[in-house]
Amino acid sequence: MIFDLAIIGGGPAGFFAAECAGNQGLKVVIFEKEDLGGVCINEGCIPAKSLLHSIQAYNIVKNAEKYGIEVDKDISFNMPLALKRKEKIIRNMQHIVSSKFNDDIATLIYGHAFIKGRTTDGNITINCNNQSYQSHNLLICTGSRPDTLQIPDIDSSAICTYDALLNSSEVPQKLVIIGGGQVSLELAHIYNSLGTKIIILEQNDEILLDTDNEISAILREEYTKRGIVTYLNTEIVKIEGNTVYFKIKGRSMTAEGEKILCDIGRVPNLEGFGLENLDVECYRKGIRINNQMQTSEPNVYAAGDVTGFSKSAHAAYCESSVAINTILGIKDQMNFKAVPTCVFSSPEIAQVGITEEMLNLAWQPHKIIRIPLTQSSRYIIQDEEFEGLCKLIVGEDDTILGVHIIGNNCTESIIAAVMAVESQMTISEWKKIVFPYPTIGEIMKGALIYAHIPFEQHKYDRSNTRQ
Ligand SMILES: Cc1cc2nc3c(=O)[nH]c(=O)nc-3n(C[C@H](O)[C@H](O)[C@H](O)COP(=O)(O)OP(=O)(O)OC[C@H]3O[C@@H](n4cnc5c(N)ncnc54)[C@H](O)[C@@H]3O)c2cc1C
Repeated sequence: MIFDLAIIGGGPAGFFAAECAGNQGLKVVIFEKEDLGGVCINEGCIPAKSLLHSIQAYNIVKNAEKYGIEVDKDISFNMPLALKRKEKIIRNMQHIVSSKFNDDIATLIYGHAFIKGRTTDGNITINCNNQSYQSHNLLICTGSRPDTLQIPDIDSSAICTYDALLNSSEVPQKLVIIGGGQVSLELAHIYNSLGTKIIILEQNDEILLDTDNEISAILREEYTKRGIVTYLNTEIVKIEGNTVYFKIKGRSMTAEGEKILCDIGRVPNLEGFGLENLDVECYRKGIRINNQMQTSEPNVYAAGDVTGFSKSAHAAYCESSVAINTILGIKDQMNFKAVPTCVFSSPEIAQVGITEEMLNLAWQPHKIIRIPLTQSSRYIIQDEEFEGLCKLIVGEDDTILGVHIIGNNCTESIIAAVMAVESQMTISEWKKIVFPYPTIGEIMKGALIYAHIPFEQHKYDRSNTRQ
């Protein structure tokens, strides 16, 4: 049988594409060499969020009195039990995903897929488990893997990966984290809550490279108050035993950890599956795609982390959907400007659209409205002990260009902003939307009230609405 679509990789990009395509009547075959669900379900998003939820519950119970609850026992965190809960959630999610696949939707093949090339009539041939499959279209969703430190001197058994940490029932007393990205900051919150002394070493001049600088700095300052030490502008020199040797502007320093987590980003998986047998162009370490997720090779598409672009499960879902629509001849395109970023640190960060730095670089006139989250009654009820900030960025024509929030539960509310940025709403259009009360999300409505201030007055006044 010749399939309409072959998909390599059963992570978020792949399994969502298979589900969409199968439901639209395409004959689909999907290959997965490990577990369905990819990094997201098995080692990344879901395990991390499951432990973060346990930590959130632990922190609430530790402060029970504040909520009017008396606890007459010493509180402790049982990591093996939390890990057991995490495993149960993973199995549950794997079941949900695999139960969507029946023969009407897609043929699921477990094994390592390898692209052999094209047949004389133009179909793409893929080998897996000594069988050959042919398809009119191919969607590459092979994901990414952690990047490795490029320094010559590494001699340490203390170095570990995020998934080793997320699977360990031991809580390290001291943890050095190389890299101040999303995963690092989520893990820093988990272990800081359990009493681990944490040092973060970031090579840039602020943590969270792609996040609005002001928001990143607020998170770093909040982490500092909680005892997490962050060094910026670091250059790692060597790692020996439990010690990381690094430099800041030429000054030599060291950091010691029982464990050393190296989380310096991810690289797309481009090797080992026969990509070289097609004429697919790569760009900045990922597969080059256009807004329809088409590669340089006809009928070959790519989605998810392998493109080296957005590196989030939600972007992967959307990219897959665009790829399937393109295959079906339905007009669609990816709007990368409206892909949100969520950091499940504490406080959480959620953002969508353009940052202040990007606008300043482009000399694009804009106004910024800042409003503390403590103006939301729901936020006050939650008693977060942190002011929080909602930062709204508006263009000269009153279009909503970006929304950046720091404060717990903002990852749930950001969807309202995603819709506003995606549909290029203006202030007056967004103001017409009814936001439910009392919610954290209505802070955006609150910010919009200040947006009537004339453009010129807003331009360079950074504190006009801050309280
Ligand atoms: C700790 C951590 C936390 C994260 N948290 C979040 C979060 O909260 N929200 C979010 O949106 N994103 C999060 N991410 C990112 C998210 O996990 C990835 O963006 C997402 O998994 C990418 O999906 P993908 O389908 O492109 O690739 P992957 O999930 O990497 O899946 C690729 C799949 O392809 C398979 N494969 C590769 N080559 C072959 C082959 N030759 N044959 C057969 N199968 C093959 C692999 O086995 C794998 O299952 C997190 C990542 C990490 C590491």
